[in-house]
Amino acid sequence: MSFDQLGLSVPLLRALAELNYKTPTPIQTKAIPTVLLGKDILACAQTGSGKTASYSLPLLQRLGNGQRPRSNQARSLILVPTRELAIQVGDNLQGYSLHTSLRSLVVYGGVKINPQMQKLRGGVDILVATPGRLIDLHQKNAVRFQQLETLILDEADRMLDLGFGDELKTILHALPKKRQNLLFSATFSADIRELATTIVHKPVELQIDTPNTTVPSINHWLVPVDKTRKPQLLIHLIKQHEWSRALVFVKTKKGADRLVTALGKADIKSAAIHGDKSQALRRRALDSFKQKTICVLVATDVAARGIDIDQLPQVVNLDLPIVATDYIHRVGRTARAGTDGEAISLVCADEHKQLIDIEQLLGKLIDRQYEPGFEPSHEVPESPSPLRPSKPKKPKKPKKPKKTNTLATTEKLSPHTTTISGQTERHRKHR
Ligand code: AMP
Repeated sequence: MSFDQLGLSVPLLRALAELNYKTPTPIQTKAIPTVLLGKDILACAQTGSGKTASYSLPLLQRLGNGQRPRSNQARSLILVPTRELAIQVGDNLQGYSLHTSLRSLVVYGGVKINPQMQKLRGGVDILVATPGRLIDLHQKNAVRFQQLETLILDEADRMLDLGFGDELKTILHALPKKRQNLLFSATFSADIRELATTIVHKPVELQIDTPNTTVPSINHWLVPVDKTRKPQLLIHLIKQHEWSRALVFVKTKKGADRLVTALGKADIKSAAIHGDKSQALRRRALDSFKQKTICVLVATDVAARGIDIDQLPQVVNLDLPIVATDYIHRVGRTARAGTDGEAISLVCADEHKQLIDIEQLLGKLIDRQYEPGFEPSHEVPESPSPLRPSKPKKPKKPKKPKKTNTLATTEKLSPHTTTISGQTERHRKHR
């Protein structure tokens, strides 16, 4: 299958050739013709699967046929959970739309609103936005949606994880009822399905891989280690394996800064990106990493969302994520667009419950590799094999027949409603 068999126009095919995209990825093969037909889609596509092009290309083509935007109008809206993803989607759109006259704009919070308001005056064909800033702009009348034709919700699961449920409702309320809707999510929980019912209309469901799994070319392994020795172990692994480009995930902003200091003392060049760093500093850190002037980028989950780095060979979890689905988002940074990658987790005894959740989500045990000299004094308990669920107990015959609520039982046991270790969404929002 090649791109010109998907019904894309010549200006788009030219841009793809210049970007050296030769073959469409599976999600692109399925989504592009469907979106071109004007249908709604509900797509389960993993990070790194090429999902951005799968919605951007047909969107650009459809917008090319319509009327130009009037002042302050947005003809299409791509909603994303973080500014990093907004920037990345915007960068991709620039590349794909090079030979069209369509105008796109990226807006997100944490920067001055006035320049964004000015840019919106002429109207835009595509507006890429994070929810909070979009609502601010709408309240200021800087953006209007009378001409809106298409809504795209990218990384919808992440949007809910970050607590944007209410913002989404506000935004949906402001949009015209008649529109095309495309919803993308890396994972499909019951919450996402419920959200989908309020957004998409008779959608074509696209399932590229089994839900909640990572891309297969990732080699997952973990090293059991005591909590306090994690930074030393990381330094040891970087030097031993000569990792030249590793993205390292940590739980907290302070932890990220401490790790950068420890790496610096070991002569390993690194930088951190997290919520307390300005947009300019984050961008600089990311650029240094892309240009290979630093070899380790330390990140918290929220800051790392949307990072797109070609050929990133190693993703390291210095701390396991609190929510299991974040593991999939994290490791999706490696093995992008068909390359191989490794996902390495440094796991201490305290994290064994998180590990069980991750392994259950993956449907397999992660290979354990003990590092000589770093064997833990507090052992990480072996996870029960997620592939061999414990035998269901035979129900005892009740003495008196009782009415049971089977629906409630099923809901409780749903494997996708993962809230781990007693952490709530509120905790996550403020991480
Ligand atoms: P995404 O999943 O949209 O974040 O895309 C992951 C990476 O794959 C990005 O760097 C894209 O530029 C790249 N990519 C997407 N589609 C293709 C393709 N058909 N051929 C080559 N690279 C691609």
